[in-house]
Amino acid sequence: MWNGKKKALTFSYDDGIAQDIRFTEILNRYGLKATFNLNSGLMSGNGDWTTDKGLAIRRLRRDEVRDVYKGHEIAVHCVTHPHIIDMPEDELRHEIMDDKSALEELFGCSIQGMAYPYGEFSELIMRVAGECGIKFSRTCEDVHDFRHQTDLLAFGATCHHNYEDLERLTDEFLSYDGEEPIYFCLWGHSYEFDIHNNWELIEEFCKKVSGRDDIFYGTNSEVLLG
Ligand SMILES: [Zn+2]
Repeated sequence: MWNGKKKALTFSYDDGIAQDIRFTEILNRYGLKATFNLNSGLMSGNGDWTTDKGLAIRRLRRDEVRDVYKGHEIAVHCVTHPHIIDMPEDELRHEIMDDKSALEELFGCSIQGMAYPYGEFSELIMRVAGECGIKFSRTCEDVHDFRHQTDLLAFGATCHHNYEDLERLTDEFLSYDGEEPIYFCLWGHSYEFDIHNNWELIEEFCKKVSGRDDIFYGTNSEVLLG
């Protein structure tokens, strides 16, 4: 239960890109809270790229992020967004720990969450993340339901915003009136709204789920760690 409410909604978005400016404006307008998973080593222009369809993706710079993410939660996504599945343990520990420390200093807060870059994780990666003080970490293995998860270092979001049955899941969540507390976690990257030209999808989702007395709107930490 969250503030006496049996339902909670949260968002998990990755990579710290310029489209998060527009995305956070939408979230803020509807009173919704998200967790943004950031790479502290890619905030000086060195992490920008162009998609195969020619869309230039700009990562937010160090001097922009505090304003953009005000009111939301910041979480680890490794320093340089590497493939970590076969990474030597020492290097992995640096990627997690150094990102956590840099973000804690930049944002002046303590950080408990993470999302695995490319969704790559293993027993070893989960152990090292836990040893670095990470309490929950999102995979890319969506669960497509609202069940309470206990293995938070292999946390699966409810679904990606492009999931074909998003509307059905949303309706199920909104109409739920059972006894068990449930949560909905939507994830993605906001540059995908430009790639698929579907900003109206997230606008409509936020409008539909917001302003309800029976739902707690919180960050990943607030929802997962209570
Ligand atoms: Zn990522």
